[in-house]
Amino acid sequence: MSGSTVRRVPIIAGNWKMNLGPTEARDFAASILADLGSLPSVERVLCPPAISIPAVHAVTSGSDLRLGAQNMYFEEKGAYTGEISPLMLQGLCEYVILGHSERRGYFGETDELVNRKALSAFAHRLRPIVCVGERLEDRDANLTERVITTQVQGSLAGLPAERLGELVVAYEPIWAIGTGRAATAQDAADVVAIIRALLVEMYGAVAAGQVRVQYGGSVTAANIAEFAANPDIDGALVGGASLKPEFVEIVRKTAAVKGA
Ligand code: PEP
Repeated sequence: MSGSTVRRVPIIAGNWKMNLGPTEARDFAASILADLGSLPSVERVLCPPAISIPAVHAVTSGSDLRLGAQNMYFEEKGAYTGEISPLMLQGLCEYVILGHSERRGYFGETDELVNRKALSAFAHRLRPIVCVGERLEDRDANLTERVITTQVQGSLAGLPAERLGELVVAYEPIWAIGTGRAATAQDAADVVAIIRALLVEMYGAVAAGQVRVQYGGSVTAANIAEFAANPDIDGALVGGASLKPEFVEIVRKTAAVKGA
């Protein structure tokens, strides 16, 4: 089954990374909310640092701007210094980014750990945005498919097939993140097709067809239309540009191109 036969709502998520404390985050979220107005055809998600989530929630609550965390631990509570639990996110966030390449690279997160977190997210009714992506040396050595296969099979094992519509996968080539060197839409679509074929093998065509697969890596208002124009790319995970008013333009252009 082609990835384009099922109608999936495009999703633009902004990963603020380690930027914007509670007051700045609240003010910026309020300005995005005011600028965006109502635009039901594209789901948009803000992912502030954990400490700023309640402040952003205070201004976005009741709106259609959704909140996500940038990470969480899989346990509910206990002696895990510095960690945030799924129970703490419930009621504030709908989404949680898991396995971002910065978590994998700087904090040693493995596919096994990402998988435990993804299972925990499902168990706690949080929608995981699970990131996968190859390094430049992998791509240059023609290892992209192998790396993506290992990450998808390892990070996304054992999820409830009947709820796979709650899963978002972000294809984020590491060489494209924060570098200003985005993948071409065709390269991104080729890897998205690999990801969806793996999901078909793991969960069957119907469940796999419901998963939204985003592209991430130097997405801007200038290039989002190319990605959005591909029916198999269901939106974007945006880093740097999500910290600017440009984020609103990215959402608007996605809505315009997807014709939603
Ligand atoms: C990211 O951090 O997920 C990301 C895609 O960053 P940027 O848009 O800055 O490349």
